[in-house]
Amino acid sequence: IYGKNRRNSHGINLNISLQRELLFDDMRRWSSHQWEARPITATTGKGALLADKPVIAPFTAQYQIGRSQWFNPDNIAAVMNAGAAGFERWRLLAPRYANQERKAWLMLLASALENHSAELITLCVLEAGKTVQDSIDELREAVDFCRYYARQIDVHFAQPNKLTGPTGECNELYYEGRGVWLCISPWNFPLAIFIGQIAAALAAGNSVIAKPAEATSLIAARAVEIAHQVGIPKDLLQFLPGSGVDIGSAAFNDINLAGVAFTGSHKTARQIALQLAQRNGAMVPFIAETGGQNAMIVDSTALPEQVVRDVLRSAFGSAGQRCSALRVLCLQDDIADEVIRLLSGAMLELSVGDPLSLSTDVGPVIDSRAQHYLLRHIRWLEQHAKCVGKAPKAPEEGTFVTPVAYEITDFEALREEHFGPILHIYRYSAKSLNTLISNINSLGFGLTLSVHSRNPDTASRIERGIRVGNVYVNRDQIGAVVGVQPFGGMGLSGTGPKAGGPNYLLRFATERTRTINT
Ligand code: GLU
Repeated sequence: IYGKNRRNSHGINLNISLQRELLFDDMRRWSSHQWEARPITATTGKGALLADKPVIAPFTAQYQIGRSQWFNPDNIAAVMNAGAAGFERWRLLAPRYANQERKAWLMLLASALENHSAELITLCVLEAGKTVQDSIDELREAVDFCRYYARQIDVHFAQPNKLTGPTGECNELYYEGRGVWLCISPWNFPLAIFIGQIAAALAAGNSVIAKPAEATSLIAARAVEIAHQVGIPKDLLQFLPGSGVDIGSAAFNDINLAGVAFTGSHKTARQIALQLAQRNGAMVPFIAETGGQNAMIVDSTALPEQVVRDVLRSAFGSAGQRCSALRVLCLQDDIADEVIRLLSGAMLELSVGDPLSLSTDVGPVIDSRAQHYLLRHIRWLEQHAKCVGKAPKAPEEGTFVTPVAYEITDFEALREEHFGPILHIYRYSAKSLNTLISNINSLGFGLTLSVHSRNPDTASRIERGIRVGNVYVNRDQIGAVVGVQPFGGMGLSGTGPKAGGPNYLLRFATERTRTINT
């Protein structure tokens, strides 16, 4: 049974009661299915479709798994109007009733996603190229988000906060939705983050326009169909597959837009912020969760075997395509040779290839553009750094990148984030720890940090010194669990809200104060 080693947001194992064999039988059946993603809106305007694109699995040259029909952004006004009308209708209902409905939808959605496990896991493997284990974890995270945010509705929205005031006056502060949120999600968590944004925005009382990553619209389309089947109204959740630039630009200028939630690169986040600053009409909140140039700092008291295990998972798990992934391993000089020796041996054991095969550790990267960009960085490292570790060569066909580790002597290679299985290793001495801390801070990102040290003073000095959103001590630095490790960074890594945390819903809501003269 899956779920042995992982807690869900309530601290217990999630009951995905599928046995391995059953899951794989079902996955085999699903793998010959053809999926389709098309816009799902509350209004069916003519000319809503722009293009019809085949979707090819990234680990093959021509295995077509479905088609994606792109939304024509010329029709954005009708979609935004429908979203605004749906929002207003629900806003004016008795809050107790509306909140209970929203909570019920999200609880039902969680169960429905579990019931569609085999299909969604298969799609995640085929469309995003994630390994089977990563895809199972992804499904669990999506389910966790739904249940966690559903429960948070009672915490934040059930009762107004009573405030003090003079006798004869009743003062209250309460939260309500803002309106139409545009949720733009990434391809690296095509189900979990996609559903997480939607669930949060809906839980906080909004309507949602969901724009999936271009590369992963099929799984997103299935998730939205399932959401509608459990009763989430079509005007509260609309779905627009298509070009991020075109749909975004049209939506950012729409009068009805009330907020944007985005997960993706910090360059795109900056573009969005610029466009939002220039829009006509109300200023709207922008939640951005972006990348990281994440470090692991290992001092001489660390346990090398444990470090190597955590490095493999943090740097090469999910083919390094997590914003939380380890990018720079900093080794204190007296332990560096030992860790590098063990690591380079362990890398030879990594299996890189078909994500459908259970023995695969590292699947493909998302597409040939990503592959090209990563290979270009590896060529640069060949010239400027020393290769100290390499996995066995990845298959030729498909968009694979062989995991590699390079020892660098300065931070030049780290100016840009490289979103893939490339690890940089940097040696430092105990005397230069402060310089190291300031060098890492000066990269400007602030997402995850792992510290390996048996010396609590050193661990605390590093943890306090490096400004990131998520610190992990003596463990790997990926796989934040909903409700357990609220996730989100600072600086170039995002605007700060913590997904899967107790305050996240409030970022999607607005606060109102009511004073009644009694
Ligand atoms: N929450 C994920 C983790 O902790 C990363 C999310 C992302 O890559 O956007 O690994």
